[in-house]
Amino acid sequence: MPKSDLILLALSDIHVLPLFERALAAASYKAAIAREKVALDKILQETSPALVIVEENFDGTSGLEVAEELLERFPTMPVVLFLGQENAPALRKAMRVGISDCLCAPLRIEEIGKAVERSIQRADRVGDWTRREIRRTTASLEQRVKDLQKFETILNSIEDGVMILDERQCILLVNPAVRRTFGLWQEEDLVGRPVLDVISHPDLRTLLNSDRKTVAPHHEINFDDGRCLSAQCTPIPGIGFAITMQDISYLRQIDRLKSEFINTVSHDLRSPLTAILGYVDLLERVGPLNDAQREFVQRVQVSVESITNLVNDLLELGRIEAGVDSQKEMIRLDTLVQLTAETFEAQIQEKRQKLTLDIPSEKPLELRGNPIRLRQMLDNLLGNAIKYTPEGGEITIELEEQAGQIILRVSDTGPGIPPSDQPHIFDKFYRASNVPKGVGGSGLGLAIVKSIVDNHHGRIWVESVMGKGSTFVVVLPIYRNGK
Ligand code: ADP
Repeated sequence: MPKSDLILLALSDIHVLPLFERALAAASYKAAIAREKVALDKILQETSPALVIVEENFDGTSGLEVAEELLERFPTMPVVLFLGQENAPALRKAMRVGISDCLCAPLRIEEIGKAVERSIQRADRVGDWTRREIRRTTASLEQRVKDLQKFETILNSIEDGVMILDERQCILLVNPAVRRTFGLWQEEDLVGRPVLDVISHPDLRTLLNSDRKTVAPHHEINFDDGRCLSAQCTPIPGIGFAITMQDISYLRQIDRLKSEFINTVSHDLRSPLTAILGYVDLLERVGPLNDAQREFVQRVQVSVESITNLVNDLLELGRIEAGVDSQKEMIRLDTLVQLTAETFEAQIQEKRQKLTLDIPSEKPLELRGNPIRLRQMLDNLLGNAIKYTPEGGEITIELEEQAGQIILRVSDTGPGIPPSDQPHIFDKFYRASNVPKGVGGSGLGLAIVKSIVDNHHGRIWVESVMGKGSTFVVVLPIYRNGK
């Protein structure tokens, strides 16, 4: 430790002064002396003493108060109190105030030197520790700033749109991809503004305003110029929501090209199939067939009929996707459900299943839609429930109206759908890995249903537990855009 430190003596009693001076000189310290308050302040302004020794009664005031004042102004500077005699209450008070040490008369030279040295060493240790801590905290803050900068660079560079909203749907963050997508380059300050004031897209409004329980986690945002985004809304506890958006326009285009190809092929297959069926029917008329020939002819008929059904389904799907026959009118979905249930009565009885309809009777459930297509949707959903549910099982159709939309649930106690298959069952030709043996199908029924739901600006998803059953949930808006 350099011994050139300056020690400030705040002593009014001149008798003890020589003793202190000698003691400090012996320990190689310089001394500055203040006999009254004014001098003390002046020295403190002009120098930076390493330690101050304050006399119990200094300049007619309490030395303890002076010490307390000093510690308030210079919290890291050690202060030693000099007491005329041992005084327990004063010592206790001194400790509470934060005095480094106390010296009591009668004094010895070495005692003064040791007390000064001890206090300065302790203050140095505290100083070192504080500096180390500051360095450490600064380093971790710097690291966090770097991490934040990295995070900001990633958010700014990615092609996907990212938007963070608070609980009241006000913007906390938007990245440049969102600005590009919604043409918000001119808007300077978006933070804090309600998102729907800034972006008034109806699909975004639907995503944000819908009851999260009745809305599929993925949502499409469509633009008039053909662009399409897949948006996902994830709640962030304590903050609000994160909305991520991915441009899937190219997927849409590939899908359209694929549909066009399938449509052309299906269309071209129809005529030869009709011809095959016609000629197979004629076979028996042009001459007698033996039993084996008759059986083969029947097998050909069954196979050609099943290909014809498949082709018809494909053409139907093409028509729905192209929006053919999509005129809409006000129709009662509750009546349509009842009619569908009546049509399937025989099949339900044959499988000894129980069908329950849970439809509110207090008011008709009307919506704007295409009756033929909606009937097709109900046929497929109920048909599947009957087909996949074993004998004696239970099927329920529920209808309810909620916030301008009708919610339809078709539940069964069938085998359920494996979670890994669930995201694909609405794809064309997809059949789940657990389809029971002998249960036929083309894998087109749910694709047709999904297209019909899309045409009505609705959503569909499945909730299914293996071994317990499945529930298909369809949410249809009653009106859309006032139409
Ligand atoms: P399919 O002609 O095979 O019935 P769908 O498109 O109607 O085709 O259904 C696709 C697949 O979804 C089915 O093959 C089946 O694996 C599954 N699936 C549909 N409905 C149900 C249901 N109610 N219970 C269990 N699995 C179902």
